[in-house]
Amino acid sequence: MTMVNKLLAQQITKATDLEGSVDLEKLYALVGAAYEDLDRDRRRTDRSMSLMIEELDAVQRNLEQTVVERTKELWAREAELQAQNLRFDAALSNMSQGLTMYDADARLVIWNRRFASMYHYNAGEIRRGMTVHEMVRLRVKNGTFIGNPDYYADTLIARIKVGQAISQFAELDDGRTIAITRQAMPGGGWVATHEDVTERRQAEMKIAHMARHDALTDLPNRVLLRERLSEALALVARGQRLAVLYLDLDQFKNVNDSLGHPTGDELLRMIAGRLRGCVRETDTISRVGGDEFFIIQTGISDATDAERLARRLADAVRVPCDLHGHVVMIDASIGIALAPTDGRDANELLKNADMAMYGAKADGRGVYRFFQANMDARMKERRTLELALRAALDGGQFELYYQPVLNLDTGAVRCCEALLRWRHPERGMVSPVEFIPVAEEIGLIVPLGEYVIRQACKDAAQWPDDICVAVNLSPTQLASKALLSVVLGALAASGLPPHRMELEITEAVLMQNSEATLRTLHQLRELGIRISMDDFGTGYSSLSYLRSFPFDKIKIDRCFIKGLGDSSEADAIVQAVAGLADSLGMTTTAEGVETHQQLDLVRTLGCTDVQGFFYSPPVPVRDLAIILAKPPAAKQSAAKQPATKVVAA
Ligand code: C2E
Ligand code: MG
Ligand code: MG
Repeated sequence: MTMVNKLLAQQITKATDLEGSVDLEKLYALVGAAYEDLDRDRRRTDRSMSLMIEELDAVQRNLEQTVVERTKELWAREAELQAQNLRFDAALSNMSQGLTMYDADARLVIWNRRFASMYHYNAGEIRRGMTVHEMVRLRVKNGTFIGNPDYYADTLIARIKVGQAISQFAELDDGRTIAITRQAMPGGGWVATHEDVTERRQAEMKIAHMARHDALTDLPNRVLLRERLSEALALVARGQRLAVLYLDLDQFKNVNDSLGHPTGDELLRMIAGRLRGCVRETDTISRVGGDEFFIIQTGISDATDAERLARRLADAVRVPCDLHGHVVMIDASIGIALAPTDGRDANELLKNADMAMYGAKADGRGVYRFFQANMDARMKERRTLELALRAALDGGQFELYYQPVLNLDTGAVRCCEALLRWRHPERGMVSPVEFIPVAEEIGLIVPLGEYVIRQACKDAAQWPDDICVAVNLSPTQLASKALLSVVLGALAASGLPPHRMELEITEAVLMQNSEATLRTLHQLRELGIRISMDDFGTGYSSLSYLRSFPFDKIKIDRCFIKGLGDSSEADAIVQAVAGLADSLGMTTTAEGVETHQQLDLVRTLGCTDVQGFFYSPPVPVRDLAIILAKPPAAKQSAAKQPATKVVAA
């Protein structure tokens, strides 16, 4: 039944009375009322429909507005994103660092130009999505990776997976160093930056090298020496033995003073190179000061190993050095301390090697000495000597002895050499061989030399007019600007004419080819003072020195005279020097003539004068007066026969 029928049936039921007859009026009224209700409902529905339509219209209009606005917004956002992308691309391409980004599957997502060029990837070779394995394999091909690429990539991924940030340096085959930093990303994968740090690393390495090496010789300096010594001493604790050798060049100061610092530096470089050649890779050789070197000799079996090295070092130093035409011969004194016997810690060993070196110097230079417990006492002695020496000059403890020099033709004394003596209140007479080097080292030689010059002039002024006085000059004195005025002052004060003065210099002084030195020598000679070359044949032994200055006299060192008769070599040298001197207009004095045989030989070999115990040792000034008072004839016979009692002073 439809709704309408149902309603009609209900209305009919309502209009039917109890007997079952339908009251039509009532039914019409009911139907009419129902239609009115229906109309009302329809009107109501129509109204609400039109309201809804209006509302829908409004909503649609709003929606359209929103869509337009949102679209505009989206466009703006996209444009912004595009601009941002462009900026990002530009930044990526212009970065000085290389950059890569890999995703969680270790596939390449982002890379920049700098990265590609840094590892010599070809254009188009790198593609998005390539695995890190493929990337490293490409590097093997282009020669920027050496090693197993797969192992490298596997290790890298494994480390990234545990969230490690990795910083490492990659050393490329072409010498470049790349600093790589990899940072894991939260969702997997990683970002890596690659920076070419070759120059920075080189600079850093250079600075680190400079902090541990000596600039002149490039040998390890004291800092590195100490580090290496500590390392080596750790092995000593485990039963090994080592030696510390301290090497000091003898008279290096003379080379510096006379030939100038640049030449001194060159000599040091030359010596450093030679020393380097004497040691093993595992040993350390270090320059710790001007002419001082320390050597750590590791893994030795006993003292003889150190002794052998010391000999090798000394021999290497001794080979003549040619420095711009100056042949320089130099010796080294070496002190040796052994670990663990002479010490187990660095300070003690260095100190003991140092002390042993001073022991070597005291024993005559050019030698090596092992550390001994009594050396400490000797060092103290040396300090005491220095102090005493300073006090001696003021205390009037110095005096001059004189040794006559005899002319072989006439038998007459032509000259007397002033030789300094120190009358020490406790030690008695101290030899100049012992104290002159100390005086030179502590700078006392200049005032001491001045005393000698003044005293020698004063004494010589009392001698016969034909006898001159010879005074020894040390290199430091000649380098001193005051020398000329001191000499002039001494001559003036004593009244001694300049031609009665001789100055003896050694080859060490002559190495001072500096203009100032030569000028001083020429000025002295122009005054009429004679200049002799003393101890010829020792030290630097270069005949070329004879040409650098017009000497008046050559004194042949007594080591040659000692060998006369026994060695034909010594005879030949003396004869050659005498011949050369003669041809250059110089006289030749043979030093240290002790026997009649030597006297005859030097005469035969061409020497013009002699000096030595055969005729007279150095004597105090009052004894000299007695010798000089002898008539020349007696002197001549004395020259032929040893009449004088020989007493060494
Ligand atoms: P020198 O100038 O070569 O002096 C000669 C040295 O040889 C002297 O030693 C002398 O005593 C020694 N002598 C002389 N004849 C003989 C001999 O027949 N046999 C032996 N065995 N020796 C002989 P001295 O007096 O001990 O002097 C040593 C050195 O000390 C001198 O060598 C000289 O270089 C230096 N000296 C001495 N006095 C002075 C000085 O006033 N100033 C400077 N700068 N040095 C000085
Ligand atoms: Mg002399
Ligand atoms: Mg001499």
